[in-house]
Amino acid sequence: MRLNEFWVCMSCQHLDSITSETLISKANYPVFRCEECIKIGGTWVHLRICQSCGKMLCCNSSKHQHAQHHYQETGHPVMSSAELGEQWLWCYVDQASKTY
Ligand SMILES: [Zn+2]
Ligand SMILES: [Zn+2]
Ligand SMILES: [Zn+2]
Repeated sequence: MRLNEFWVCMSCQHLDSITSETLISKANYPVFRCEECIKIGGTWVHLRICQSCGKMLCCNSSKHQHAQHHYQETGHPVMSSAELGEQWLWCYVDQASKTY
């Protein structure tokens, strides 16, 4: 998959509604950890931040996929990457991504 195919520009109102003012930035977090993995003693690969409620959860490469489960349980559509140097958002509903 080529990069420009991955960053395909799809219209998604969830992503469009997030601006630099409303974005929950990873800079707000003193500690980077998956809230759910901590409770069960699990480990994670990458971290995501729910842009609806600010929960920091683990990605789909992680064993427990808490970000995905969080979306299925709550319907909170947009996650951002909590990884250093990464500035993108992902909408589960529209399967769309956006850099910021
Ligand atoms: Zn969307
Ligand atoms: Zn987790
Ligand atoms: Zn949430």
